[in-house]
Amino acid sequence: MTNKLIYLDNNATTKVDEKVLEAMLPYFKEEYANPSSMYDFSKPSSNAIKEARGVIKDFVNAQSEKEIIFTSCGSESANTAIRGVLNYNKNKKHIITTKVEHPCVLNVYKQLEKQGYRVDYIGVNANGELDLEELSSAIDEDTALVSVMWANNETGVINPIDKVSEIIKSKNKDTKLYVDAVQVAGKIPIDVQANGIDLLGISGHKFHAPKGVGALYVNSKTMITPLIIGGHQERGKRAGTENVPYIVGMAKAAQLAQDNLQYEMTEVKRLRDKLEAGIINNIYNARLNTGVANRVPNTTNIGFEYIEGELILLHLSDIGICASSGSACTSGSLEPSHVLRAMNVPFTAIHGSVRWSLSRFTTEDEIDYVIEKLPSIIEKVTSISPYQKELQQLKELRTKH
Ligand code: PLP
Repeated sequence: MTNKLIYLDNNATTKVDEKVLEAMLPYFKEEYANPSSMYDFSKPSSNAIKEARGVIKDFVNAQSEKEIIFTSCGSESANTAIRGVLNYNKNKKHIITTKVEHPCVLNVYKQLEKQGYRVDYIGVNANGELDLEELSSAIDEDTALVSVMWANNETGVINPIDKVSEIIKSKNKDTKLYVDAVQVAGKIPIDVQANGIDLLGISGHKFHAPKGVGALYVNSKTMITPLIIGGHQERGKRAGTENVPYIVGMAKAAQLAQDNLQYEMTEVKRLRDKLEAGIINNIYNARLNTGVANRVPNTTNIGFEYIEGELILLHLSDIGICASSGSACTSGSLEPSHVLRAMNVPFTAIHGSVRWSLSRFTTEDEIDYVIEKLPSIIEKVTSISPYQKELQQLKELRTKH
């Protein structure tokens, strides 16, 4: 055990920025009024929500504040968008998504399939890139909705959302597009208008706001039936007294993310690339699972052949390094991740795959420490692998090239 903490699991969740916490505190202490109340005391709360809505509108480049709905998380945003579109228009019974979506989309689709919807799950290639031709040929007159994530949580691979929406609109202009943008917020610019997006979800805890707050963009031409009904909050699109401090926190986090976007795309990327090269060049049984695919700047997914990822994570944890062997939701089971399976990552590497995800708080010293410590951990785990013959062959092959 060690007191050191090197947190490289920022796609699972991020630490709350101090400035975010500071912005939230008054809304726990002095300004606790219900924003819907009539008296003057509620003004700071209702104004704070109004201001936050403007910030999130700018963050995703929506046209109007009215297009922003505050939710409790990315999962709620996805559920509201998907069910909301389908419940509003019950005539169409065909929906499309990808094989590599987060469970908050995939499991909704699986349930809808049981309820009688015709569903197409679009595949990806070996680098995790979406098959756009397959998408194009799947769309027909009956397609109500397509749900495509902007970037994958396990691999960081970015989908070309502008092309996706172009394809959809050219095949059926009534088909709606939901984009799960949870893993791109704060990593690359989000522009719903430039990318032809109808609905888009984000989650605060992936960009240094607390867990338990998210947002859903629904463009003014897209109608949804609300998932949560009750009071008139969020223009009747999502009932429930607004979580004022968390909404304020997410807006502050969005402003900070916007201010740090350039840093993320250059400096965080540089550190990610350094980590990646430091691992791939020094460990013969390491492979970059995404090849040359375009990725968000903070993520790398590396397979260590013929060994178990969970064992690597335990050894890393002993020296204070946090990484992940799949998405947080699927780790804990030894089933290989559905994302890596969809990519056909060879069975020799799929069980030993580790996701490393950095943030703007990651330092060069931390990356150097991982690069220094990892080879001996991999050596230790490799030495007890039952695949010694294959490992020897791989070593000879890789050291030759
Ligand atoms: N979508 C993606 C791509 C994610 O990575 C996650 C969380 O890991 C979610 C959705 C769900 O977000 P939340 O945890 O806020 O429900």
